Amino acid sequence: MNIRKLNKLVSLIMLLISLSLISIAAPASSSDIEEVGKVAEQEIFQYHAVSHENVDLGLWYPQCQERCYFSDRENVENKNTETIEKLLKLLKKEPRIGNYLLSVAKGMHTVFCIDERDDETRGYYDFKYNILGLKEHLGLFEKLIIFVHELRHISQFTKGYYNSLDYDIEEIIRMNFAIEADVQAIVTLYAWRMKEIGINEVWDAQSGFSNYIDIAEEFEKEIKRSGDEVKATNAAFVQWYKSKWRVDKYYKCSYSWYVDRLDETKLIQKYLKLPENFFNKLCVLPCEKNYGCHRSDEIKETPQNITKKAKQYSNKLHHNSDYHFKYFPTRLQ
Ligand SMILES: [Zn+2]
Repeated sequence: MNIRKLNKLVSLIMLLISLSLISIAAPASSSDIEEVGKVAEQEIFQYHAVSHENVDLGLWYPQCQERCYFSDRENVENKNTETIEKLLKLLKKEPRIGNYLLSVAKGMHTVFCIDERDDETRGYYDFKYNILGLKEHLGLFEKLIIFVHELRHISQFTKGYYNSLDYDIEEIIRMNFAIEADVQAIVTLYAWRMKEIGINEVWDAQSGFSNYIDIAEEFEKEIKRSGDEVKATNAAFVQWYKSKWRVDKYYKCSYSWYVDRLDETKLIQKYLKLPENFFNKLCVLPCEKNYGCHRSDEIKETPQNITKKAKQYSNKLHHNSDYHFKYFPTRLQ
């Protein structure tokens, strides 16, 4: 091959290469943009799933093999399999909430564990290990209540409701109040439906959680008045904000999480407000009905105002013996 022919061949190859580069770099059509969005979403999901599968549960707890149950695969029997299977069976007795929450957790490959270590919590969802932990010392129906509580947190997580440093600290506290209020409203609705099908134990077990019993009372009052589950669930949501104990507790937890994380990451603090429609999807029930918490005054209030109002409300309760008798009957007996 002479030099002229070789030069021609090289130019042809260069032309072909540049054409192929242009086609890759060409502006994406609207369907391409959508496709890119989908891939990104899948990648994020896969990233979570892969990172969870590879996580060493032994770091969470050396005896994890004896304590945990995998929601997405066959399990080797251990000392807690029976308890967790009992909980799963009970959970599904109210399939509208139970099956939905369980399918979300399975989709996340969440591991269910019974934790014997004593601390102040009754249960937790640890995102790092993707573990839902229930404390061993709780009774079966108390465990079931906490199970539903943490499962709802997982479903909130998949909808984008979780702690982050992307917004102002007060906004993150406001979000934590809302997600806890929604969780408790769903737990109460679940307990009520179980009672309606003759399994009273879940409703009754709520009396074991004295700091939450007023929420069940409000739910019951509304359902007896209107017979409307949506209204009653909303009443339970609103009631969450009326306890000084709850508001103080979650204020402190959220505040420390935010400050510690900021310290760890050395990121610059942001002061962004949550988007206007941020809470629109928070209070959607598994049947797709929205019980409307995003329209409540409470969800829009600043944490400082909520704290102030909860204090006034708790003081009023303290001075009202009827309320005292109503909310703490077991203590007065
Ligand atoms: Zn919670």
